[in-house]
Amino acid sequence: MKIVVLIKEVPDTWGERRLDLETGLSDRSGASPVLDEIDERAVEAALAYADAHPGTEVEVVAMAPASSTATIRKALAMGATSALHIVDDALRGADLLLTAEVLAAAVKRAGFDVVIAGNLSTDGGGGVIPAMVAEVLGIPQLTGLSALELSDSAVSGDRVSDAGTMRVTGDLPAVVSISEALPEGRFTTFKGIMAAKKKPYETMDAAALGIEPDDPTVARYIMLSVAERPPRAAGTKIVDEGDAGEKLAAFLLAEGVL
Ligand SMILES: Cc1cc2nc3c(=O)[nH]c(=O)nc-3n(C[C@H](O)[C@H](O)[C@H](O)COP(=O)(O)OP(=O)(O)OC[C@H]3O[C@@H](n4cnc5c(N)ncnc54)[C@H](O)[C@@H]3O)c2cc1C
Repeated sequence: MKIVVLIKEVPDTWGERRLDLETGLSDRSGASPVLDEIDERAVEAALAYADAHPGTEVEVVAMAPASSTATIRKALAMGATSALHIVDDALRGADLLLTAEVLAAAVKRAGFDVVIAGNLSTDGGGGVIPAMVAEVLGIPQLTGLSALELSDSAVSGDRVSDAGTMRVTGDLPAVVSISEALPEGRFTTFKGIMAAKKKPYETMDAAALGIEPDDPTVARYIMLSVAERPPRAAGTKIVDEGDAGEKLAAFLLAEGVL
């Protein structure tokens, strides 16, 4: 079994996250870059299967700036077998379709039985890359799984919605995305970090995957402008002097909530 995990470097959610108001991209200088937590869970899901099934190969694939090497190596330190890093400045600001085309070509190049991804990144937040990758590849997609079971020929899982839980299954090869209900990523150890330095780490640009980022015949969306979210207005404080209930009701009435 070969599992490919899609991993993305994002600005740490604990730091201050800002948009570069000129490019509209994340201002990567504001917060430390980290492996997205949801993708750590995706790596963990693959490694848990590999632990129970010796001979399983886990390759991580990332389309990310050249500076993301340490983040990608973290997945190797967790236990992944190898990494494929797509680095190309022409991919800076790639829209969702271009990203999906690049990742689909990369996973095809890596070879896989199943691709595991997060359901939603904490920065871009598009939430559609796994489905788009499956569409480009023409294979089944099982998205937002809160439980995941893999066999030699199929993948199954639970998909929770507001209305209930769906049980879904698909033949391999397939793409799945997982939700935060799956276990957190394991900690890296010193031994794992040292071993990661010797694991296969391949880098490649878009042309090597047969993709032309500036192809004028392909429709792309472009960002026209970007504006920072206005700061929140100060709230209204209600001090309880025995009449907080009345004051609260009056406030809610004035706001049109009641
Ligand atoms: C030079 C360069 C600069 C970039 N700068 C930015 C930036 O400033 N801000 C930004 O948001 N993105 C940046 N990217 C990455 C790319 O443009 C986004 O990954 C893409 O738009 C995906 O959008 P999303 O995060 O909304 O995906 P979602 O659909 O929300 O992601 C869901 C899941 O798909 C997988 N996935 C998504 N993107 C990638 C990826 N790139 N590699 C591997 N797996 C992935 C992950 O498993 C993720 O959990 C950059 C890429 C390059 C090469």
